[in-house]
Amino acid sequence: MSGLGNDGVVTCYKCGMTFALDPGFFQLCKSDKRTFYCPNGHGNVLVENDQDKLRKELEAAKLEILNLRKRVEAARSSEEFWKERATKEPDSKPSGKISQKREIDR
Ligand SMILES: [Zn+2]
Repeated sequence: MSGLGNDGVVTCYKCGMTFALDPGFFQLCKSDKRTFYCPNGHGNVLVENDQDKLRKELEAAKLEILNLRKRVEAARSSEEFWKERATKEPDSKPSGKISQKREIDR
């Protein structure tokens, strides 16, 4: 894996040599995964560096948290809805209690 810097500055994965690529060629290497060679002749391919990878993972994690939060909120509001309904429901409703008992006995 070679280091991926800004402005076409790269570090050879093999010898650690830091050198600059032509910005246009750098973009080509980045998008097409083209091979380029360091002054010592080592073939390098630009790969996503850890920072980019971590940033993407962080974004994905943030999105997941957002979705989970939405689900929790939805679950909470439906829970509150049922709680409200339960308290509003009169206690002395014989039919409801009987059907509940039947289900337990089954
Ligand atoms: Zn090298």
